[in-house]
Amino acid sequence: MKILVAVKRVVDYNVKVRVKADNSGVDLANVKMSMNPFCEIAVEEAVRLKEKGVASEIVVVTIGPTAAQEQLRTALALGADRAILVESTEELNSLAVAKLLKAVVDKEQPQLVILGKQAIDSDNNQTGQMLGALTGFAQGTFASQVEVAGDKVNVTREIDGGLQTVALNLPAIVTTDLRLNEPRYASLPNIMKAKKKPLETLTPDALGVATASTVKTLKVEAPAARGAGIKVKSVAELVEKLKNEAKVI
Ligand code: AMP
Repeated sequence: MKILVAVKRVVDYNVKVRVKADNSGVDLANVKMSMNPFCEIAVEEAVRLKEKGVASEIVVVTIGPTAAQEQLRTALALGADRAILVESTEELNSLAVAKLLKAVVDKEQPQLVILGKQAIDSDNNQTGQMLGALTGFAQGTFASQVEVAGDKVNVTREIDGGLQTVALNLPAIVTTDLRLNEPRYASLPNIMKAKKKPLETLTPDALGVATASTVKTLKVEAPAARGAGIKVKSVAELVEKLKNEAKVI
């Protein structure tokens, strides 16, 4: 079984992002970039399926600038077999990304596509679902457990108030939730080996996909600064402040 994993290059989750002075977006100059954490979980799940003998090949794909090769090499060091970079410096919206992923799915014909449930930069949580609509594949979103059984994949999903297990016919799309697994770290020998694994570069034009955006970011603002907290001397003072100042009791 071939698995396609979509990974996104995003600002590292430890970085405190700064808004650009002109409010046009977030300042990315000299900022540490990493693989989106939910995509790391997607790669880990694919690698585990390969280790179990369920998957035979893992192809990892990203859509982004040349520098996104860095995240593809990380995925290769973690266990993916080959990588595809769809090179684009444009700010693409989810539908454009999903259309490009659909073109890669048509080319690669995977039986399983694994994506993160959400990219931590844009917080869209929609690419997997859009890819599901474009391909017509069954989808299991917010997966906390994935089990391939014959021509089906059973996906346990985290939903409000509990867990739901769905059986999807393959080919299928799965998006990962936080508790699916704990991603491994790449070992130094595997990082060295990953440098020699194949990395193909494509363009949206070569895939025949128009990526013109239908969404324009008007303004990005930092959240209002929070006022300093105070220390109260007694419970009575706390109750008085909650009642008369915060007016929450
Ligand atoms: P989003 O819908 O933007 O929150 O992203 C959900 C998931 O879609 C991510 O975790 C990735 O697996 C995939 N994805 C989003 N953008 C890209 C991209 N530029 N390249 C590859 N995969 C992406």
